[in-house]
Amino acid sequence: MTAPAYDRDPYLKTLETEVVATGDDGRPFVVLADTVFYPEGGGQPADRGRIGVADVVDVQRVNGEIRHYLVHPLEPGPVSVEIDWARRFDHMQQHTGQHLLTAVAEDLFGWSTTAFHLGEAVSDIELDTAELSPEKREALEEAVAAEIRAVRPVRATRVTHDAYLQMDVRSRGLPAGHTGDVRLVEIEGLDLNTCGGTHLRSTAELESIKLLHTESLRGGTRLVYVAGGRARRLLGAHHDRIAALRGALGASDDELLAAVEMRIDQLKGANRALRQTEGAYAAALGAGMAATAGPVVAEHWPDRDLPFLQSVAKAVCEGRPDVVCLFTAGDGEGSFLLTAGEAAPVEIPELGPRVADILAGRGGGRGRSYQGRASRLDRRDEAVVLLSRPEA
Ligand SMILES: [Zn+2]
Repeated sequence: MTAPAYDRDPYLKTLETEVVATGDDGRPFVVLADTVFYPEGGGQPADRGRIGVADVVDVQRVNGEIRHYLVHPLEPGPVSVEIDWARRFDHMQQHTGQHLLTAVAEDLFGWSTTAFHLGEAVSDIELDTAELSPEKREALEEAVAAEIRAVRPVRATRVTHDAYLQMDVRSRGLPAGHTGDVRLVEIEGLDLNTCGGTHLRSTAELESIKLLHTESLRGGTRLVYVAGGRARRLLGAHHDRIAALRGALGASDDELLAAVEMRIDQLKGANRALRQTEGAYAAALGAGMAATAGPVVAEHWPDRDLPFLQSVAKAVCEGRPDVVCLFTAGDGEGSFLLTAGEAAPVEIPELGPRVADILAGRGGGRGRSYQGRASRLDRRDEAVVLLSRPEA
């Protein structure tokens, strides 16, 4: 059985081939006579692209065949296929970057790679070291850059299983039950590894690898990186964002953090002053309402919040212990508060749920207060009628 086209030549973008089988295992798929589509595996995501007029949404190896999952079914027969090359080349940069990082990390520090994840924005490898200091991370990045500058050829070969067993190969082990030839990927003069993925021709095509940060996990360390075009795009995005921040804050790069911290401090101070003013206003407002109150005091504020309602109710009930307050805040939906003074002849635990029902809301309370959220604050007049005649 010959290897698929993506394996023979990872730089092949298009192919004239044939749909030899169709099926549906929950998603419609086709099997091709030969394929340039890489099926997900070894940490590298599946390719995207087109088969005839149908977009390919996923590619998986299932029961020894490569299933190309499509947005809609196709008929058997001759077909032109094309992969999303920009996406694939990005994957080849991140994946080949992983080979190089793994090899250099092992040669320089003796750390082996236990996992690889190629993400949408960044990729990572997991190293079997409990600690990776910033100094060692920098040394690793420098050593990787030197190997990129060395323009080392990268090539894939196949050897028999017996030959493989005689060779000194850096490998996380073959899949259980592996038979037949073994595919090896070599970075000339540096690394020999078992792998079925797609790789660059040379370390030069990596352009650069930037190590971003580390995370501790299960006694090991996750090392997050970007390679190739991603590194340039990430730098460009950071540069644009910093430029926008400089404009918004009127500060130079060196002053940005201090400018943000100063504004946060100012905001906290302003919020404290605002809360004090609101509290004083609520107390004065409540005292005024108490002076003219009947048995039920009801009021609505479109742009206040529950703490404000509580402050006003406290002031009303201090001035007039014989009244019950129903206060609401919000636009259409919002908060409600039911509070009775010490001498008011009402049972709040019984009335609270009934008021919540009228306002299409839910709440809870303790003692002489009940509060919650409601979606029909426009029905508060009905609730006032209930509170005026609670025995009804
Ligand atoms: Zn590989």
